[in-house]
Amino acid sequence: MVGLGSYSEGELGPALKETKHCHLAGIVSGSEDKRKRWRKEYDIPESNIYCYEGFDSIKDNSAIDIIYVVLPNSMHKEYVIRASQAGKHVICEKPLACTVEECDEMIAACRRAGVMLSVGYRLHFDPFNLQMMRLAREKAYGNVKRISASHGLRSAQGWRLDKELAGGGPLMDVGIYCVNAGRYITDLEPIAVHAREGEKKDKKKFATIEESLTWTMEYPNGVTAECSCSYSQYGNHLRIEADNGWFEIAPSFSYSGLKGNTSDGKMDIEPINQQAAQMDDFALAIIDKRSTPVPGEMGRQDMKIIEAIYESMKSGRRVEIHET
Ligand code: NDP
Repeated sequence: MVGLGSYSEGELGPALKETKHCHLAGIVSGSEDKRKRWRKEYDIPESNIYCYEGFDSIKDNSAIDIIYVVLPNSMHKEYVIRASQAGKHVICEKPLACTVEECDEMIAACRRAGVMLSVGYRLHFDPFNLQMMRLAREKAYGNVKRISASHGLRSAQGWRLDKELAGGGPLMDVGIYCVNAGRYITDLEPIAVHAREGEKKDKKKFATIEESLTWTMEYPNGVTAECSCSYSQYGNHLRIEADNGWFEIAPSFSYSGLKGNTSDGKMDIEPINQQAAQMDDFALAIIDKRSTPVPGEMGRQDMKIIEAIYESMKSGRRVEIHET
């Protein structure tokens, strides 16, 4: 695991105590304190503990099979490429990178090295979101007509507020969940987007990034997704209107506490540890030599949509997305 920040500490590390097909074999951190603390807590041998400067020597460490990049967004590209050059399979946190061009370089590097690249899209393993995918795919309530999704939080700080490190604002961080949900609900790529930036109430805090954003995604079958994201207003829902009913989850994008409802009543679903399921699935994909349901290419597609949303936000016009 590379970068022992709040997601590694709060979610991924604890999840690796529950995984069945992988375990925390090593860590990379710039903090001596954290290296010491994690070494003790996870019983990691000294030979598997790295600082960023020594990162490339992981290539000689056969105890490590997968490198999980959990760094600020602008560092993803460099560390994914270096991980691939070390001959290790890679999981990279979302967003895969800050531009489509960077995603292409990362995907190409992993291909060249013959290693698998996956994105930390944990919701593809979450039973509530899987149920939403199933209900849409099986047309349980008829054809999907309209999607509405929002994700916002008020706790963003540090590198998340700096475009250089984050690549953008709440769209890159939390809005990406709505972009990705549009795909797993429709099984389609949007053909056009139209976005509008929300009012910037705190001009100092949000000097380099958007504070909030609303946007529409249009799909080739006529379905539309109305989405919003924010760093100043809470939001967390995914709702689908279909010909004969509706289904929704709220909260929809959290690690736990998800709740679902349909026009027929409550969803009765047992929650699981999303991150443990996600990491176990990637380990099994490597062992079984099968593809991952959340490959680097999916991260790249999301970035393509995000770039179109930003283009629309700036121009104020509807932006068409073409296949490339
Ligand atoms: P944090 O800021 O909490 O942690 C980032 C860590 O990266 C730091 O603690 C530090 O680790 C390391 N780092 C190295 N260089 C820098 C730098 N210049 N500035 C800041 N940190 C640096 O971020 P998060 O853990 O919240 O997010 C990390 C990644 O994970 C992001 O890409 C984010 O989008 C993603 N994420 C995904 C989630 C999901 O649900 N899938 C949820 C939350 C985050 P060290 O001290 O060990 O070197």
